Amino acid sequence: MNKAVGVLALQGAYQKHIDILGALNIAAQTVRTSHELASCCALIIPGGESTTISLLIQKNSLYDPIKIFAENHPVMGVCAGMIMMATEVDDDRVTPLGLMPFKALRNHYGAQVHSFTTDITMDFDSKGQTFPAIFIRAPGVDKVSSEVQVLARNVNKNRNEAVILKKGQHMALSFHPELTGDTRIHNYWLNNFKQVTPHASIK
Ligand code: GLN
Repeated sequence: MNKAVGVLALQGAYQKHIDILGALNIAAQTVRTSHELASCCALIIPGGESTTISLLIQKNSLYDPIKIFAENHPVMGVCAGMIMMATEVDDDRVTPLGLMPFKALRNHYGAQVHSFTTDITMDFDSKGQTFPAIFIRAPGVDKVSSEVQVLARNVNKNRNEAVILKKGQHMALSFHPELTGDTRIHNYWLNNFKQVTPHASIK
């Protein structure tokens, strides 16, 4: 069976991820039910509002299916999606999926008006290259387990904070890589697993 990369489409910025996957010639599909999840080989949890996404995951009976899916499929969480990846969140209204051992700090980088873009360097990128990271009400991280790799840090304004985390095939990002149209981060995540289906072979 052909399998696509799923993008959780309950709320938030999911369309841009589908566009990036399209630019990489990877089959993508929206996921709103466990049935749709079952036809995917990987899942992106997009940015949005983690309190709402958490509620809708429960409402659509996706909590256990996503946890089980993540046992042997890659999941990437972006911004609100990063919050959902954590084992702990500083806000009781969010029930995180607990896919990566760290604590997420909601709105760590401030409100919408404090949104900013800063160049970061990523461990997996070619030397000297930077990526324009867009932070929108972005989460910070704390209590990052030693099992988790930090692939990039935000060093803007003398900060030194982890902004890309990786554990096995899972990744979590504080910022929005899909808004730049730059495919490097999605490409890196996809290259960690090989069972993705190119667009061309989808019937
Ligand atoms: N601050 C939002 C939250 O807590 C996340 C913002 C985003 O995804 N851009 O869910």
